[in-house]
This record gives sequence, C-alpha cells and structure tokens, in this order.
Amino acid sequence: MGLIVQKFGGTSVANAERIQNVARIITDTYRQGNSVVAVLSAQGDTTDDLIEKAQEINPRASRREMDMLLSTGEQISCSLCAMAIEALGYPVVSLTGWQAGVQTNSSYSSAKIKKIRTERIQSELDRNHSIVIVTGFQGINKFDDITTLGRGGSDTSAVALAAALKADLCQIYTDVDGIYTADPRYVKGAKKLDEITFDEMLELASLGAQVLHNRSVEMAKKYQVNLEVLSSFTKKPGTKVKEVAKQMEKTQISGVAKDKNVARLALVNVEDKPGIAYKVFSLLGQKDINVDIILQSIGRGETQDISFTVKRSDADLAKELLEEHKASLGFDRIDVNKEVVKVSIVGAGMLENAGVAAKMFGALYDADININMISTSEIKVSVLLDESDANAAVQAIHDKFFAE
Ligand code: ADP
Ligand code: ASP
Ligand code: MG
Repeated sequence: MGLIVQKFGGTSVANAERIQNVARIITDTYRQGNSVVAVLSAQGDTTDDLIEKAQEINPRASRREMDMLLSTGEQISCSLCAMAIEALGYPVVSLTGWQAGVQTNSSYSSAKIKKIRTERIQSELDRNHSIVIVTGFQGINKFDDITTLGRGGSDTSAVALAAALKADLCQIYTDVDGIYTADPRYVKGAKKLDEITFDEMLELASLGAQVLHNRSVEMAKKYQVNLEVLSSFTKKPGTKVKEVAKQMEKTQISGVAKDKNVARLALVNVEDKPGIAYKVFSLLGQKDINVDIILQSIGRGETQDISFTVKRSDADLAKELLEEHKASLGFDRIDVNKEVVKVSIVGAGMLENAGVAAKMFGALYDADININMISTSEIKVSVLLDESDANAAVQAIHDKFFAE
C-alpha cells in the first residue's frame, strides 16, 4: 500500500473500450488500498491529427498557439477516463497541468518542468480520497500560458509527479510489455529485459528508443524514482529501470536503437585556419541547434571539410544560418543529406569488453552496409548510415550480439 503514479500512453487510451480497461487497472490499484495518480496521453493519433489541423490553417503557427491546441488532446482522454471511473463508482477528479500545479519554463513546445505545486493533488488524495487523473505533456509558464513538454512528454509528466509526490512507484503502461534489446515491432529476436540501469536507458531513449521520453529517465535518476515499464494490455511483470541492474546474461550490450530524426550537413572546402569550427558551432548554438556527430577532414593544404549532424527538423535552419555567414566562414558550399539514420548500441558492458565497436562494424560489413560517420562515448557507439539501410543494419547488429 502506498502512492502509485500510473501513466497510460496514447494506444492504451485510444478508444472507449481501452479507456474502460485503463479505468479498471486504476481502480484495481485503488481498491488494493493505494492512492493513485494517473497521467494520461492523448488518445491514439490525436496529437498528430491536431498538428495536421493547424497546418491547414497556418503552417507557421506560433509555438504558443500550437501548445494551446496540442494540450487539448490530453484533456479529452483525462475527462473521459474520469467519467469511466465515476461509472465504476469510485471518487475521481481530472486535472489539467495547471490545475495540478505543473510549472514550466517558457520554451513553448519543448518546455522543462521547473516545479510542481502539489497542494491540490495532495488535498484530493488526502481529504477526498479521490483518484486523481492528470493531463500529461503539459504545464503552465510564468505568463499563465499553457506549455507542452515535447513529443512523448507524458512520461516526463508522470515521473515528475512521482518525484514531487514522493510516490512509492511510477508505472509507465504502454503497448509493449517492457523494454527490449531493440524495438520489438521491427527487430526479430528482440529480448525483453527484466531490468536496465538509468544510465543505459537514458542513452537508449536519447538515441531513439521512444519507449521512454529521455527526460523522464533523467528525472527518474535524479530523484531515484522507482520506475517500471509494462503493458496495459497483458498482465505481466514489465521492466524495472534502476540505478543498478542485474545483467540478464553475459551480454556486452543492453540494446540497439535507431534514430531517424537526423540530417547531415557538410561544409565543403572551408578555410583551414584556427577559429572556424568555433564560429560554425557558436552560430548554431546561438539558435539552439544541437550538433551531434562532428567530423573534420584532414586539411588539403588551404582547405578542409567539416561535416556534422543535427536534428532533421533543424537542418534547413542550420543551412540558412551558415549560408548567411558564407563570406566570413569562407566555404564553397553546404551539402545537406536528410536521408540518413543514426544506429547505436548501448551497454555498460563496453567498459570491460574490448572489441565491442569492432563487432558492430563487422556486423555492418557482413551485411554490406556502408558507414558514413562514427561516434563513441563510454557506453555507446553510434554510426550514421543511409536511411535505406536502417532496418537491415539494426537487425544485423542485433543478431550479432544477441543470437544464441
Ligand atoms: P506510448 O504511447 O505508450 O507512450 P510509445 O509509442 O511512445 O508509447 O512507446 C512505445 C513504443 O516504443 C513501442 O510500441 C515500441 O515500438 C517502441 N520501442 C522502441 N524501442 C523500444 C525498445 N527498446 N523496447 C520496447 N519498445 C521500444
Ligand atoms: N500526446 C503527446 C504526443 O503524442 C504526448 C505523449 O504522448 O506523451 O507526443
Ligand atoms: Mg511515449
């Protein structure tokens, strides 16, 4: 018995029947003597549909108005779920982000949670013994405007609430029954993990495994939230995300991830002199464009090439920005390639095992896949590939590390 935060994703609340299923999971937990705060995403593809609606009216709508619009999806699922719980005869109240006291900074469409004033939720739990349903993905900024946390942000709402309320457990209910060694929808032989560390999950999430929003993992680690990912469709133990995890078997890596939201820019024939890299990356930084993999070629006397990757959605802006400074940077041209993908392996085991990167490159060689760029850190290796090779690459790498 304790306080449990349960989060349900879009597929889990997609229609009336599924909302009723979620209402049963919540009320079963409540009936066992727990206090329950449930965080819901918008139903099915609602958020995508809302974005499409906005595009029809104004493809360059302000982020503020986009947040006003997108936040409505979660209000629908939450009120419907509260109605389903009322019908089952339990005390319940649904709250929007601002009613629940979720305060964020002012970065519309990618806001960060600064603080949660928990008084309202706490009094609903303590005084009214209500089940509390909270809209995921949203909060309010210092101007009393609605903000959203970025796509997939409901996971972060749930973990932030669990941390602020000092919940005993935060359960992320989704459409797969846990975290796998690769996306089980696309990769044959993907294996379910019983446990994974915060650090490994953070890398996997940041490298494209959307099963958890990366900031939710960051927050869970910071506040040591007891986190679990499980299915809303089947009653099975899920995957626990923890500080220290027991190794499933003697595997060198925990998983393979794929990220399509990437583009490569190449500055061709840049002057080979001090300060150029500084200028290029400062310009991008000033516009909040994050650069990921960077490759500088060996100089050819006077000139060299600098290639780097950014989010695909930032590629055009990055190009425009650098073109504006063409004269002072002194390059011939910028090539942009949006048909690339980043495939990564993650695992704490890399620290002790030499040759893990070579094994990954070997798998790609055997599958006749060319590598465009490479980057490594302590617990990950990433390669940039042609997008058309993405699925074959993930499968080949996964087979190499996980086939019996
Ligand atoms: P929700 O709507 O519940 O938030 P998401 O679509 O955001 O669900 O995340 C769940 C999906 O994440 C799964 O359907 C699966 O396709 C995908 N996924 C990607 N990588 C993994 C992984 N390593 N383990 C499990 N699921 C993964
Ligand atoms: N509904 C939002 C989205 O589709 C938030 C979420 O699902 O976590 O991105
Ligand atoms: Mg999600």
